[in-house]
Amino acid sequence: MFVLPDRCSVSKEGKQCVNPPEFIISVTVESDEYMVGVTCGRHKQIVLGKIKHMQDDGKVPSGQIRFSPIKAIGTDCIHGDSDEFIQLDDHKTK
Ligand SMILES: [Zn+2]
Repeated sequence: MFVLPDRCSVSKEGKQCVNPPEFIISVTVESDEYMVGVTCGRHKQIVLGKIKHMQDDGKVPSGQIRFSPIKAIGTDCIHGDSDEFIQLDDHKTK
C-alpha cells in the first residue's frame, strides 16, 4: 500500500519543500493507476514538468498524469469534488 509522505516531494537545489502535500500525483496507463508522488499546490507545475521528463526517460510509465486532492480523501466530499477532476483530467475515453 502506498504510504503518503508528509511533505511535498519537490526538492530544489537539495532543499526539500517543507509544505504539506496537497495532491497525490498518479499516472494512469490503461486501467492501471501508478502513484508517483505528492506535491503541494505551489509545486504542481514543477512536478508536472518533472514527471513528463521522467516519462521521456522511461522512469515513469507514459500515461495520463493526474492530480488528486489529498484533502478529499477520507472525507464525505470525495464524490462532491468533481470540478477539480474535470479541470485536471480532460481526457474522456467514453
Ligand atoms: Zn512543494
